[in-house]
Amino acid sequence: MLATCQEKPVRLIQHLKQSLDPLHDSSPATCAHFAAWYRHAKVAQIRYVAFLTMALYLVYAAIELNVASDAHGLRLLLHGGVIPGLLLATGLMSFRPTLHRPMIAVLMTAPTFAVAVNLHFNYGHADFAHFAPELYLNLIWTFAISGLRLRQAMLTASISALIILAVTFTDSLQPGVQRLHLIWILASFSFGLLCAQVLEKAYKEIFLQHRDLALSASTDGLTGLWNRARIDQFFAGELARAQRYGTPFSLILMDIDHFKNVNDSHGHTVGDNVLRQFATLLRQNVRNVDKVGRLGGEEFLIVLPEADAQQARAAATLLQQRINAFVFDTVQHKSASFGVTQYDGDRSTQAMLDRVDRALYLAKANGRDRIEVL
Ligand code: GH3
Ligand code: MG
Ligand code: MG
Repeated sequence: MLATCQEKPVRLIQHLKQSLDPLHDSSPATCAHFAAWYRHAKVAQIRYVAFLTMALYLVYAAIELNVASDAHGLRLLLHGGVIPGLLLATGLMSFRPTLHRPMIAVLMTAPTFAVAVNLHFNYGHADFAHFAPELYLNLIWTFAISGLRLRQAMLTASISALIILAVTFTDSLQPGVQRLHLIWILASFSFGLLCAQVLEKAYKEIFLQHRDLALSASTDGLTGLWNRARIDQFFAGELARAQRYGTPFSLILMDIDHFKNVNDSHGHTVGDNVLRQFATLLRQNVRNVDKVGRLGGEEFLIVLPEADAQQARAAATLLQQRINAFVFDTVQHKSASFGVTQYDGDRSTQAMLDRVDRALYLAKANGRDRIEVL
């Protein structure tokens, strides 16, 4: 009873965290992957928003010259030079992936700088009300328009809001005007925060769906191994690397012996189970860098980067020993035959596949439960 009462709030907090942040219990690697994906997805937005905001500041600087009563030269320098300059730098850095980190740093600094400039020129003047909208828009811009991540926008907008509040409170406006000013700050900050939270959550959900779809398009539904299309891609990638750099790599083609008997004697469900157990054995007994795929039926292809035929034979021998020692559900013992080949200056994947297929054929023809290297 006590445990249930304690578990409830914990579950509620978990649920709340999950609904606010779909990645809250993801691994650091997934979060880092999301950060890179998000930056990439946001580059165009950051670029065009930076250029548009720069253009608007230039127009603003021209208008301000006719409206403001003081500091024309300095206003022109800051609103027509420094702030558009920071935005131009942001937009230009967006074209260079290596400059994306400093681009974010400039993007996080520029809004706070603009707030400080606005307050410096306009706070305490009779016409402050005409300039104050830049402050409110600045908070919404930071959260919802800039392209910053929620955490980054939160930091920037909080510093900006604190500066505005500090100035507003130390050098007080008329009480009524001050209250209006505060409600506009609260409104722009809260609308902006809500918008940034909703947007970031949507991006995280899209990222997770995208990742799941990519994974299910690459894996075999029954065994969880790479499917034919994906293992072909790994194979083609290794071949291209070998052709370019001369690094060795090998293939193991494995086929379960007399698998048809399993289906015929025990039914398809038991057959499926044996296939899954084979897949687990293969996955657990190869190196991390090796790629294991199911070509179809009861035939599996393993791509072994940086391994020559001798090392591939050793890898196949280990697999054979593990398979022979394993007790499978219902059928108890099963064996498999292996064809092995290494890259030999082949021009196409087909040439290498034909060779490993012939090696497997030999293993079958020579009595099964054996390894042949060609
Ligand atoms: P060999 O030693 O010559 O390889 O004999 P074999 O019986 O293993 O070879 P064969 O190619 O004649 O039979 C393969 C069988 O694999 C036939 C097919 O019913 C079965 N099979 C193919 N895909 C699946 C699957 O997804 N699930 C199950 N349960 N069986 C499958
Ligand atoms: Mg077979
Ligand atoms: Mg077969």
